[in-house]
Amino acid sequence: MKRVAIFGSTGSIGTQALDVIRVNRSLFEVEVLTAHTNDELLVAQALEFSPNAVVIVDESKYTKVKSALASTDIKVFAGEAALEEVADFDTYDIMIAAIVGFAGLKPTLKAVQKGKVIALANKETLVVAGDIVMQKALEHKAPIIPVDSEHSAIFQCLVGESRNPVERIILTASGGPFLGKKPNFLVNVKRDHALQHPNWSMGAKITVDSATLMNKGLEMIEAKWLFNLRPEQIEVIIHPQSVIHSMVQFEDGSIKAQMGYPDMKLPIQYALGFPERLKNDFPRFNFRKYPNLSFEEPDYKTFRNLGLAIEALQAGGNKACVLNAANEIAVWAFLKNRIGFLDITAVVEKTMAAIKYIARPSLQEYFDSDAEARNFAATLIKL
Ligand code: NAD
Ligand code: MG
Repeated sequence: MKRVAIFGSTGSIGTQALDVIRVNRSLFEVEVLTAHTNDELLVAQALEFSPNAVVIVDESKYTKVKSALASTDIKVFAGEAALEEVADFDTYDIMIAAIVGFAGLKPTLKAVQKGKVIALANKETLVVAGDIVMQKALEHKAPIIPVDSEHSAIFQCLVGESRNPVERIILTASGGPFLGKKPNFLVNVKRDHALQHPNWSMGAKITVDSATLMNKGLEMIEAKWLFNLRPEQIEVIIHPQSVIHSMVQFEDGSIKAQMGYPDMKLPIQYALGFPERLKNDFPRFNFRKYPNLSFEEPDYKTFRNLGLAIEALQAGGNKACVLNAANEIAVWAFLKNRIGFLDITAVVEKTMAAIKYIARPSLQEYFDSDAEARNFAATLIKL
């Protein structure tokens, strides 16, 4: 029986993780659930899965959650600091890190320092402070198993290959809803259009990141830390069908790919079950329905976020932390219809140029860089 703590249980990844657990009740026990503001869903999940503890980050919702769970012995915590407090519990084995954005870093780091297994969906944790997180994971023997579909694919391709160096990895990208579009079209794109992803149903932030290709840039940085790669070993190819989830090429030129329908439940289940593969009844892939799998070069000129992320990947230090912070502010403003689609890139680019570069930041310097970048980006947007 694995005891699971789901941080961000009310989101797209969190609810799908609970879908996986619901049909594998003999293998997994839910120990912790956390939510930002969605108290109603958190309470419903708690009543169904009877965790030891829940956290509602929005403190104004505490009384509501507490009284809804009054007839149970579930402990209720509130506030941001409670996330770290609960991540420090001895009573769980595996954390599903499914909070979105920089907010996921502190609780995930706490779990790493406790030597927990981390099923990592929250890519921003590695984008912001990948060197420190991976170093601590090594020190505290905390396995990090990726949930991001591309990284899960690479992880799966690497099983049994520990003695064989990787020559390069190829991250596939769907291209998002605006594949093939040019700036004259993108300038008029609105929130609702950007939120319609062709292949995946995900939270709002990552859906916008997929439309701007920032998501693929963040994933390049995530891959660098997870698989200990040099920037030039990481390639991106557009593959609109999202059937090949990513590939690894070894030194003999052989390429391994992991394939299937785009369904996040599979990488979530793989991370939860690892090293076992759990039997399921998900639809099986039918090659006859996909006679054409296609591949093309990303349009770096139009989707400039990808180039900015590569710049951060190559620069190292606090560059990716700054890129991430500016992007979070810009995407939030875009979702509120405060700025246009192409302004997201402008905000990120200007913020990256303005914030002082630090080659080897301490954890505190990462937090400071994040705060500085957020403030700077907010002044650009005139928030
Ligand atoms: P989401 O917006 O659907 O859910 C986010 C979750 O985090 C919610 O439970 C919310 O309550 C919580 N949360 C939000 N802000 C918070 C804060 N400030 N403090 C504490 N909790 C907070 O997001 P998602 O799509 O599930 O994505 C979660 C993470 O997984 C992201 O890092 C994303 O990049 C990554 N990811 C998601 C998918 C996907 O298919 N959705 C795929 C790959 C990777
Ligand atoms: Mg992904």
